[in-house]
Amino acid sequence: MNALKELYQQTILDHNKNPRNFGELEVCNHCAEGHNPLCGDHIDVFMNIENDIIVDVKFKGAGCAISKASASIMTTILKGKRIEEARRLFESFHDAVTSDPNSTIDEMNLGKLAVFCGVREFPARVKCASLAWHTMINALANEELLMVKA
Ligand code: ZN
Repeated sequence: MNALKELYQQTILDHNKNPRNFGELEVCNHCAEGHNPLCGDHIDVFMNIENDIIVDVKFKGAGCAISKASASIMTTILKGKRIEEARRLFESFHDAVTSDPNSTIDEMNLGKLAVFCGVREFPARVKCASLAWHTMINALANEELLMVKA
């Protein structure tokens, strides 16, 4: 295993062990539930969107290390981003994890998401890595009345 791969592995294990933005949002107007039956991963994504900007985002759920780390890293990237940027990131991420394992990865463009490129070699894991992203895209479409939890 080369040094870069090892670093990627460590990043995934760290986010799985200490997921960022884990829990429910007190103020939430977009949410969705995602399920990956192939692996048993289950993730809820909560977002508070104001003027097309993702002001806050959190997730909860249970699943394998890849699904949890992917959700955790996604939330750290999306906070403060515009909706169209979030959609563009989803496209880049999706293209990268479903690309030919022998093709070159645009690490500059992917940034932190490059850690998941290893799943290209394991088609069964692609759904684990992309579950949070698909759920986030569904949440963008699910606008709900602003819920404020006491
Ligand atoms: Zn999984």
